[in-house]
Amino acid sequence: MDFRITDDQLELRDMVRKFARQELAPKAAEIDLSCEFPKENWQKMADLGLLGMMIPEEYGGFESDVLTFCICMEEVAYACASTSLSYLAHTVLCAYNLSQNGSEEQKKKYLPGLCDGSKMGCLCITEPDSGSDALGMQTFAEERGDKWILNGSKTFITNAPIADVFLVYARSDRNDRNRGITQFIIERDTPGLSTGEPFHKMGNRASPTSEVFFENCEVPAENIVIGPNQALGILMGNLDVERAVGGAMGVGGAQAALDRAVDYAKTRIQFDQPIIMHEMVLDKVAEMATSIEAARLLTHKAAWLCDQGEPCTESASYAKLFSAQMAQKATYEAVQILGGYGYMQEYEVERFMRDARLGTIGGGTNEVQKLIIAREVVKRSMG
Ligand SMILES: Cc1cc2nc3c(=O)[nH]c(=O)nc-3n(C[C@H](O)[C@H](O)[C@H](O)COP(=O)(O)OP(=O)(O)OC[C@H]3O[C@@H](n4cnc5c(N)ncnc54)[C@H](O)[C@@H]3O)c2cc1C
Repeated sequence: MDFRITDDQLELRDMVRKFARQELAPKAAEIDLSCEFPKENWQKMADLGLLGMMIPEEYGGFESDVLTFCICMEEVAYACASTSLSYLAHTVLCAYNLSQNGSEEQKKKYLPGLCDGSKMGCLCITEPDSGSDALGMQTFAEERGDKWILNGSKTFITNAPIADVFLVYARSDRNDRNRGITQFIIERDTPGLSTGEPFHKMGNRASPTSEVFFENCEVPAENIVIGPNQALGILMGNLDVERAVGGAMGVGGAQAALDRAVDYAKTRIQFDQPIIMHEMVLDKVAEMATSIEAARLLTHKAAWLCDQGEPCTESASYAKLFSAQMAQKATYEAVQILGGYGYMQEYEVERFMRDARLGTIGGGTNEVQKLIIAREVVKRSMG
């Protein structure tokens, strides 16, 4: 067993770290207030090859594995949570999903634009009446000759207000709840597709999120990515990678909170000494550092398993659940270490705490992760 990351991964991590801290971090507070998606930074990420991280080179990507992507995602999340959320939705939920499951024509048509930043992607699963129970989706796709007609709506879709390419799961068989699901790729200008106004969110506020509506939206059969009625496996499989990467996002946000708290505690004098000298502050620092490292290791293991093509559902849920719980605590304690200043926007840790909250909800709630884990534990106990 070798816990070291490779020299190539280290070099890439340092490049992303430098970029993220110089370009993304300085704008993070401002775009949190304005709720404006950072277009210029996005293009810079594309120019560095970051948008095509897990996409094969022949389609304009960088062809990294999931572990390398997690290492880079941690750096992006450290610098700007909003950017990291849009990055997840674009690169993992849309582009990576398409690269794994799309036809040759679909990959040639869409992936180069998703990698070079000229197209923005999103993934539509959640509906107003089906969140955790994703297979309860009701958006319906009806086959008519060589076309499919979609009706229904999706909600909480990251990047939808600015997306060009929508990967959409829809029900295609009302009699088969689990398997009657098809995945389509739909372009923004398709008649019948529209998006709602961006929601006002607690955190990750510069990553735009909205509803997506389908009203007799006519999609050619060639835009089916997986199906008809065969998308269940990829819906679940892609969530494993999303959850491993979600672990990295929690780690990045929590590490930023720890570093900020330590810097502050070294200079804040109370009772004639820097507060970092007070044991109860040091206790928080030790707890934060230990749990961040534990979440990082769980994340790297889950990503590594995905890369080996081994079953990784349970490990991905461990990583996502633990990382989300850890990030709540770490960002909370960072605010505590900064005291009253921590409560003020200027010191940024309050933003870290708001941003971290999503980790317990998006990509499957903590409760859903526990259901997945417990199901596996019970299955094993039965031999
Ligand atoms: C900012 C943001 C971005 C998002 N981006 C996307 C996106 O890009 N694409 C997309 O498709 N979706 C996206 N989502 C949706 C997200 O995946 C869902 O919010 C999530 O799956 C939970 O669904 P829900 O909100 O409907 O909550 P519900 O499913 O209604 O859950 C409400 C509560 O009930 C609990 N609960 C539900 N069922 C059970 C059970 N069986 N046992 C125990 N507890 C249970 C939940 O854990 C939760 O605490 C996003 C959400 C947010 C907030």
